[in-house]
Amino acid sequence: MKIVIDPGHGGKDPGALGSYSREKDINLILSLKLRDKLIAGGINAICTREDDRYIDLQTRCDIANNVEANYFISIHCNGAKDPRAGGTETYCYRKASEAYRLAQVLQNQMAAFNKNINRGVKTVGFYVLRHTRMPAVLIEAMFITNRQEEDKLNNAQWQEGFTGILTRAIYEYLGFPDGKARHFAQDAYEAWKAKGIILGEHDLDDPITWGQYLITQERLKTLEE
Ligand SMILES: [Zn+2]
Repeated sequence: MKIVIDPGHGGKDPGALGSYSREKDINLILSLKLRDKLIAGGINAICTREDDRYIDLQTRCDIANNVEANYFISIHCNGAKDPRAGGTETYCYRKASEAYRLAQVLQNQMAAFNKNINRGVKTVGFYVLRHTRMPAVLIEAMFITNRQEEDKLNNAQWQEGFTGILTRAIYEYLGFPDGKARHFAQDAYEAWKAKGIILGEHDLDDPITWGQYLITQERLKTLEE
């Protein structure tokens, strides 16, 4: 299971501006936290950027398409001229799609956690939603232009809770209610066991000794000869 997380904006493009913070910075913090939480549960999660840099929209799509991601999740914060505007919403390209179903699960969990206005799931032709070849959604966590919501977006405790709820929502959608996905190396492990390169049962997160490493290399060499 491979999920590409896309922190919106970056570098010369700050995104929406709050009274003291910028959308691009919040997007990055949330994306890195979400990535780490997904990896901890066994999902191969990749971010389109890991620092404050500008990347264009096609590059974001290329990253997801090239690694053949199963899902694409773009993380944004909303902005509006009216400082009273607030709430949480999620976008996807089309109704009656897998992306729409994923968007609904994420949207419901986020809105319940934020206890704010549930603006629902909307369809829109955003570039990254149209040019990614896998189900793709774009979430607008909250409004950075709303002072109360900006304070939450900048609050470390809220950031932890919010990315935790997103992680649980993704597991729920994928059908891993216990919060554990299949290990990212499980397929390789089973293939090597079938070939006799790995003998016995092993925990994929256990360290390997020099002895095990050398004997594995010897078995690989024997198989190639
Ligand atoms: Zn944005």
